[in-house]
Amino acid sequence: MKPAVIVTGIAKRYGKVNAVRDVSFQLNEGEIVALVGHNGAGKTTIVKLLLGLIRPSEGSVEVLGEDPASGDFAVRQRLGYLPESVAFHMALTGRETLAFYARLKRIDTSSAPELLERVGLAAEAADRPVRTYSKGMRQRLGLAQALLGQPRVLLLDEPTSGLDPALRRRFYDLLDDLRSSGTTILLSSHALTELEDCADRVLILNEGVKIADGTIESLRRIAQLPTKISVTQTEGDTSLSRMTSCPAWTKTGSDTFETEVTMEDKISLLKEVTANPADVAALHVTEPTLDDLYAHFLNSRRAAQ
Ligand code: ATP
Repeated sequence: MKPAVIVTGIAKRYGKVNAVRDVSFQLNEGEIVALVGHNGAGKTTIVKLLLGLIRPSEGSVEVLGEDPASGDFAVRQRLGYLPESVAFHMALTGRETLAFYARLKRIDTSSAPELLERVGLAAEAADRPVRTYSKGMRQRLGLAQALLGQPRVLLLDEPTSGLDPALRRRFYDLLDDLRSSGTTILLSSHALTELEDCADRVLILNEGVKIADGTIESLRRIAQLPTKISVTQTEGDTSLSRMTSCPAWTKTGSDTFETEVTMEDKISLLKEVTANPADVAALHVTEPTLDDLYAHFLNSRRAAQ
């Protein structure tokens, strides 16, 4: 895979505040990467560095082969950005707003109707002033604005805030389509549960430092957090109580037992539990979530400090 973004050893200081310290990563073409971290962890600072709005105090940033902070950053037209708080001119209609941003980006406005359609702003809404829009509609207009000019790199800051569950689903479907067409997407968000299904990779920041970078599967392997297994036995069966490989079964219902197992022991335990399928009425395997992994990496970092 070709990297669309290469960040090498960047630091950003605002006076005495070390907003970002020694961070390196790459974003590959057609990859959705989630950038997660507490408030003030440095996520927006990284997004601003990628946009070339600010310069790093140390290190280098390359976006589509160029320095985004250089005055003549030609590929700016191929970058899309949705800020955390979208502020539009309230008197303009959705259609006029897109035309305004297209002119700023110096691109043709002909894609505007299709983009409004794509983000689900119907024709009727497109010709209404933005002041009449709900929060979710403004957020969708913000996304349409970010998609102007078919960006190769899309930077999204808390993109699903204000969207209801159905719109969120639609938004993630749209991201899937963009990924398939080779767009590189960096998604900064606190909505960890949503990111779990959509992100190819997760970057975790803490106090300006990158503390984890990998696919959810690779982070699970590194974290070595246990998998939860819940088994409901068919009535009257006692096979779990006889099992020696995993003695710590906790009874959580009349015929339901739960235990935790390491990744290495998971398969052998499942084989043992399901050796006689007739004994098993229900089986649930719960892997560590992104929430669990995030808490784990944060706690490990704090313990090491
Ligand atoms: P949030 O999730 O709250 O949006 P964030 O991870 O995006 O937070 P940043 O906005 O990047 O965090 O801020 C990182 C640190 O840099 C914070 O301590 C913040 O106060 C500080 N900071 C950001 N911009 C400036 C600035 N212009 N001047 C001084 N300090 C700043």
